Amino acid sequence: MKRNTLATMERLRIDEELRELVGQLWKHCYKTTDSCEGHGSEAYIMFTGGDGWFEDNAPKYGLAKVENKDCCPREFQDEIRKYGLDPKDFVDKRKTCGCGAGVNGNSVYRGRLIQNPFKPEF
Ligand SMILES: [Zn+2]
Repeated sequence: MKRNTLATMERLRIDEELRELVGQLWKHCYKTTDSCEGHGSEAYIMFTGGDGWFEDNAPKYGLAKVENKDCCPREFQDEIRKYGLDPKDFVDKRKTCGCGAGVNGNSVYRGRLIQNPFKPEF
């Protein structure tokens, strides 16, 4: 990994076990917005954009998409209505729904992380 890429990852506090994957995501034009290696539990990664590479390769990393459900569009509107206000007057800036799925262009993948599934080439 390039020195400045590693420095950026340290600054962004990207967990060590995820750095190879995050590096790949960046190369493939994904913008990672949140991530966690799991620390003994499930890892997750959240992103926007990308060229489709990760959608094809996520299973190799042990990760699967958290699919959207009925709650995802409804959650924000219901919250606004609780205050007697019209959801149309507000911008939904959520990245995730309470169910854990990504919203507003964000995708969330989670699972037991498999590190470096592609053998590094030297
Ligand atoms: Zn939801």
